[in-house]
Amino acid sequence: MKTKALTVLITFTLLFVISCNSLTQNNVEQQNVKNIIFMIGDGMGLNHMYAAMTANGGTLALEEITHVGLQKTYSASRYITDSGASGTAMACGKKTYNGAIGVDIEKNELESILKVGEKNGYATGLVATSTITHATPATFIANDTSRGNYEAIALDFLLTDIDVFIGGGLDNFTKREDGRDLTKELEEKGYTVTRSMGELAGVTDGKLAAFTAEGSNPRATEGRGDMLAIATKKALELLSQNEKGFFIMIEGSQIDWGGHDNDQDYVVTETLDFDKAVKVALDFAKADGETLVVITADHETGGMIVLNGDFDSGSVETVFTTGGHTGQLIPVYSYGPFAELFTGIFENTGFKERFEKAWGIITE
Ligand code: MG
Ligand code: ZN
Repeated sequence: MKTKALTVLITFTLLFVISCNSLTQNNVEQQNVKNIIFMIGDGMGLNHMYAAMTANGGTLALEEITHVGLQKTYSASRYITDSGASGTAMACGKKTYNGAIGVDIEKNELESILKVGEKNGYATGLVATSTITHATPATFIANDTSRGNYEAIALDFLLTDIDVFIGGGLDNFTKREDGRDLTKELEEKGYTVTRSMGELAGVTDGKLAAFTAEGSNPRATEGRGDMLAIATKKALELLSQNEKGFFIMIEGSQIDWGGHDNDQDYVVTETLDFDKAVKVALDFAKADGETLVVITADHETGGMIVLNGDFDSGSVETVFTTGGHTGQLIPVYSYGPFAELFTGIFENTGFKERFEKAWGIITE
């Protein structure tokens, strides 16, 4: 009799433990990502990253990521992509022609992941060390047949409800052929508009349009300083006030420019600058627990190869094989819930659907 009672007790306890366990597992499976931080080092190939790692004594903040994948960057028109086509592919999920901004090969407008986020109640943001109207950030917010139409691209910012954007390019908003002052129009829409990094600290809530330069920002080592890391921190502070979550794209724009110049020091210092922003993002994600961070590039620039180096002195020897972009497979680094979606080898059109899966907007 006693044995029977004990058996019943053990059976019930086991059943209870098993059902609790499966409940927890189901909850974990159904838990969607709240925040998405997408970081693009323009032109940052594997060797750019390793050169920076070597110069930094053999390590980077980026190494905290837990998953790695590879993406194919070719465009619909060329084996070698530009930042317009690759940005559009990543932002909007479709291959297009070089120079396109958020439009397909037939010039139809595409919907970016930033706009999908906006439509679904997420706060949205863009940060770049180039002008904010430059190709990479533009593909997330604008639709234009050509990346050179900076004034038209600036107008597209007003057609959205983007919450925070920080970058250069004030002139595209104020010194325009149509005579409009878009900073006034942004203020009328409720934005705080700032024109220097110093003003950023004072903005603690609401919508922010922050211009850090009239044109392009200077290099990190020539006056820009820690603009990218500071801007990233401010953007995350503002966007995380939205209960549903947020999407932000943060670009280290000038790694590409160092590659085009075949300037190793430019590449290394801009990659290290980008890594400081990566640290800000990963620290946020670690503390938050509901944030997915994906870090990649749009293509490689310069055909840069690390030939030799020394971790103790931080010296590194590289060679460039072209002044343009190359067709190399590009690493995808990820961290946080759903990071495993970004492993394997996939097309640059695969980011948008993976982000939508992480948010639970699409399930297949
Ligand atoms: Mg770019
Ligand atoms: Zn380039």
